[in-house]
Amino acid sequence: MDKKRIVILGGGYAGVHAAKKMHKAFKKMKDRVEIVLIDRHNSHILMTELHEVAGNRVDEDSVKISFDRIFAGKMVTVIRDEIKTIDFKKQLLIGVAGSYSYDQLLIATGAEATDFNIPGVKEHSFYLWSIADALNIKRHLKDIVMKASYEKDEELRKEMLTFVVAGGGFTGVEMVGELMEWLPILCREHGVDYEEVQLINVEALGSILNMLGDKPRNKAIAYMEKHGVRVMTNSLIVNVDANSLTIRDGTVIKTQTLIWTCGIRGTSFAHALELTDGKVQRK
Ligand SMILES: Cc1cc2nc3c(=O)[nH]c(=O)nc-3n(C[C@H](O)[C@H](O)[C@H](O)COP(=O)(O)OP(=O)(O)OC[C@H]3O[C@@H](n4cnc5c(N)ncnc54)[C@H](O)[C@@H]3O)c2cc1C
Repeated sequence: MDKKRIVILGGGYAGVHAAKKMHKAFKKMKDRVEIVLIDRHNSHILMTELHEVAGNRVDEDSVKISFDRIFAGKMVTVIRDEIKTIDFKKQLLIGVAGSYSYDQLLIATGAEATDFNIPGVKEHSFYLWSIADALNIKRHLKDIVMKASYEKDEELRKEMLTFVVAGGGFTGVEMVGELMEWLPILCREHGVDYEEVQLINVEALGSILNMLGDKPRNKAIAYMEKHGVRVMTNSLIVNVDANSLTIRDGTVIKTQTLIWTCGIRGTSFAHALELTDGKVQRK
């Protein structure tokens, strides 16, 4: 009898969880069912810990878990490939290294950061949605504090030592937390007076951490403010350039570091597929 092939595209939290569940459900039917997981990486990435890489708390290797380890002894075959498109009629995934047929397909390709079409965000801010993004932020932070230590022009040094995280959700606040801890260390290492550093969390809504109840939210805000973080709410960013950002009320913040954690959407890959949109016009 031909085996039915279930393909899971994407080895993030959703794909790995699904593959483990399927292993459990079908392990007694190995002769009839085959489970294949395809991802462009050979490791599962702990996305929820990327801020720790960006903030130099942990090494990049500590947020990678190899698929071999995750699926050791399980009926899940992992293929490393980047899928470019899917031919739904032929039930075929077309990748860079090969093509893969399926009987059942689960698409779990995740999301990507979005700039909401705000001018300058894409060009001049740092996203935090991949290991490469996290390493980019880490490199930049080291670099800018080092440069500031040589800068004699007070205005320019102030701009270099102003760090803005846009977005007051978990990702943004976690990133602020990393900066609260790492920036004093970086400043000490480069002989920069930490008193000159400004750390700002900018949020478009009336409060940060809106998913929390009043008590934990207020506690978090009080903690951030006690440690010198300026929390700016009702502050929609409307424009960004290489050394400043502008808030809707006209306030301009001079900075060379804007970390953007304001929102995500389905991947461009999923968007390009011949699928109907979901509830909020997203795939
Ligand atoms: C710093 C940070 C902190 C966060 N904190 C939290 C938190 O506290 N709580 C929470 O619930 N969420 C948090 N999130 C969000 C959470 O990480 C995501 O919601 C989650 O990763 C989504 O899981 P997923 O499996 O759908 O997608 P992903 O984890 O993005 O996985 C998608 C996978 O698909 C693969 N892939 C995509 N396209 C292709 C292709 N064409 N070919 C081959 N492979 C492909 C990718 O390589 C990836 O492995 C945080 C995110 C960040 C960045």
